[in-house]
Amino acid sequence: MNVLVVGGAGYIGSHCVRQLTAAGHRPVVIDNLVFGHRRAVAPDVPFYDVNLGDESAVGKILVDEKIDLVMHFAAYAYVGESVHDPLKYYFNNVVATLGLLRVMLAKGVKKFVFSSTCATYGIPEKMPLVETMPQSPINPYGQTKLDVENALKALALAHGLSFSAFRYFNAAGAAEDGAIGEDHDPETHLIPLAIDAATGKRPPLQVFGIDYPTPDGTCLRDYVHVDDLSRAHIAVFEKLEKPGTALFYNLGTGTPTSVREVINAVGKVTGKKVPYTEGPRRAGDPPALYADSSKAKNELGWKVKFDTIESIVETAWRWHSANPDGFGKRK
Ligand code: UDP
Repeated sequence: MNVLVVGGAGYIGSHCVRQLTAAGHRPVVIDNLVFGHRRAVAPDVPFYDVNLGDESAVGKILVDEKIDLVMHFAAYAYVGESVHDPLKYYFNNVVATLGLLRVMLAKGVKKFVFSSTCATYGIPEKMPLVETMPQSPINPYGQTKLDVENALKALALAHGLSFSAFRYFNAAGAAEDGAIGEDHDPETHLIPLAIDAATGKRPPLQVFGIDYPTPDGTCLRDYVHVDDLSRAHIAVFEKLEKPGTALFYNLGTGTPTSVREVINAVGKVTGKKVPYTEGPRRAGDPPALYADSSKAKNELGWKVKFDTIESIVETAWRWHSANPDGFGKRK
């Protein structure tokens, strides 16, 4: 299939592009390179430096490249920033996404794969999370993702759009061959920050909260390898053949891992001590978030290849140790 990957130069998008090529599909990337890296996309993959909100440019690409399906990764994803600047999040994550969907329908492209998030569940009452549990986001970021999920349901009914929304848990790790990896600016994620603390590239890690009602007092999260996530996106393709199909899947390994366990894993894999300080809780962090992904496993035949935190951190370390400055300068 010809697959338009919107945000294909970003962290998850770029890994998905490589998995698409490996599976025999033809990815085409659009990315405005605000957060993405041109070098994260192989030179032989068609690449357009355009804004997702530019409906006429996107419409032309859909037609010229004979696109069958669109995958959409281009969202702002800093929870704290979404609280302070909600309009930025509503305009990019909701309004621009609706524009993308409008031009897709106008051009007759009716298959869509959407990056959603476990942040749509808010602070859940029960764990592990299954797809049917109530969604009540506690920040604008999660709300914008839920708003798009709801719009997709309406478009499936009204116009026969077929879509799958994947609710990611904590995407982590890097390509197994070390070719690409995670390079955010600013970086807020635990694993790259712990690695950089271990190598001395950044100051000691701050552990956000040690008084949570969890076995070791730190938050529990479900870290899932970025290539495992990517493979689910491709496994869903045949389900989208039927018009009007609406699918939702949690993607996580199902294993809760604490901040202390991540620090230990980074220490073990890198062979270095991870310097850290224990600090207060970060606002808006639920104590525990982990997935029941049986639906993806049963319906898509999805299998997690990286099923331990060490195996995920190993891939991240391979990339970070070979690329201490990430992809270097943008553009
Ligand atoms: N965390 C931490 N120190 C940091 C960054 C993150 O203790 O410098 C904790 C955070 O509170 C959460 C976990 O690590 O419990 C994962 O955070 P991350 O930002 O990587 O992902 P999130 O779960 O917020 O999507």
